[in-house]
Amino acid sequence: MADWNLPEERPASFDEHGWRIKIHPAEVKGAWHKKREWTQIVLLIVFLVLPWIRIGGEQALLLDVSRRQFEIFGLSLRAHNAPLLIFVLAIAGFGLFFVTAIWGRVWCGWACPQTVFVEAVYRRIERWVEGTAGERRSLQAAPWSVKKFLKKSIKWLAFLAVSLVITHSFLAYFVGTDVLAEMVRRAPAENWTSFLFIVISTGIILFDFGWFREQFCMIACPYGRFQSVLMDDQSMIVGYDEKRGEPRRGQVKPGDKQGDCVNCFRCVQVCPTGIDIRRGVQMECIACTACVDACDDVMTKMKRPTGLIRYSTLQELQATPDQQSKFKPGLHFAPRTIAYLAVITAAAIALTYFVSTQKDVDIQVLRGKGVPYQEITFEGQKAYLNQFFVEATNTSNEERRITVAIEDAPQGIAMMTSQTEFILRPGKTERIGFFIRFAQDTSKKDMEIELRFTDAKDPSLKIEKEIHLVGPLSRH
Ligand code: SF4
Ligand code: SF4
Repeated sequence: MADWNLPEERPASFDEHGWRIKIHPAEVKGAWHKKREWTQIVLLIVFLVLPWIRIGGEQALLLDVSRRQFEIFGLSLRAHNAPLLIFVLAIAGFGLFFVTAIWGRVWCGWACPQTVFVEAVYRRIERWVEGTAGERRSLQAAPWSVKKFLKKSIKWLAFLAVSLVITHSFLAYFVGTDVLAEMVRRAPAENWTSFLFIVISTGIILFDFGWFREQFCMIACPYGRFQSVLMDDQSMIVGYDEKRGEPRRGQVKPGDKQGDCVNCFRCVQVCPTGIDIRRGVQMECIACTACVDACDDVMTKMKRPTGLIRYSTLQELQATPDQQSKFKPGLHFAPRTIAYLAVITAAAIALTYFVSTQKDVDIQVLRGKGVPYQEITFEGQKAYLNQFFVEATNTSNEERRITVAIEDAPQGIAMMTSQTEFILRPGKTERIGFFIRFAQDTSKKDMEIELRFTDAKDPSLKIEKEIHLVGPLSRH
């Protein structure tokens, strides 16, 4: 029989020498469990299906860092507008800060891939193969036997299969489904880099979701580390109502009235991070609500009101019973939450502005470095050359065939280039050089001319750029 009185001086998942103690949380049923189960199923389906969904011919969510192509639900960002990613990241980051300030660790308990995969997939497999929490504990303590070897082998093979699926799906977000399909079709020897990447990623997922689990939340997760500074006493937490529960059964002093906690340790047994929520708010709590369901079940059986452990706020738990209703979790606008909202709004406005004003093709005409003009002889006459470069970027998802010409070319002015037409592939930038030749007499006139850029396939694309010609008598 396990001793559920947890040590005070260290987390329950470490022994006195610092070695890991594996936690086997007991199964729990209840209203919150049902809600979380459905949420996890929906999230798993979204995770697996999303890379295969197309919006406007592009993957709905693609973060291809190597090709610097980012597709975010219809928003296409390429290398040249990567700075816009700052706005996307600001919205996501400050959005998470805002959610944490109001609803606490709702991300950890409900939507974090670590929680969703471990709870919905890996623990489920573990229960199917090794049985209930008590049976798993006994199996772990038992000496090696054929039965134990078989159970462990089946479990880890199932874990491996699931980890491979997760790795491939995860990879699809970063390399795209087309590249992923190509990788899968090829033999490892043809594509060692991708193969090794998949092997290493699968190994990490297998290690983390199969074995490391709550240790990741407690030791490695950066969000878990700093979320406490994002919360205040009005943020939503899973908390134990000490005023109602104490003194718990077994700790009642003579003359005192026993509280509602019957000291059954059910809340401790179901906790996936192995803590006792009755000791107050703890960093290890991922707000998974398992203890809420467990305690509600006990309270129902004891014919007492549910909610001894519940979604609450520190303010509510510390208030007197008649004041508690004033401090229920909900939207509260402290200066910091207002600041988060302001940053999110500003980033969203900036992103919308830059995206809506972005043209399909961006063209810059740059003057060549070095001497401002060259003197030449053309058809027996003195003439001048100015060198320019065109830098054109295709920000659309379609190939462009761009033609460049001088608008209403004045007499004696001509473009000298081997290519007046060039192909711009989606998301790519091309740079072409050319000279403008003009005769001696034209150099005395106004030296501004206009270049016109068009796409034969898209009449709406017409970009004009003014350039200044520089000759010996030029005013420029
Ligand atoms: S489940 Fe409820 S009654 Fe049982 S020990 Fe936890 S808080 Fe007390
Ligand atoms: S204390 Fe409760 S809510 Fe927090 S991790 Fe444990 S079971 Fe989940």
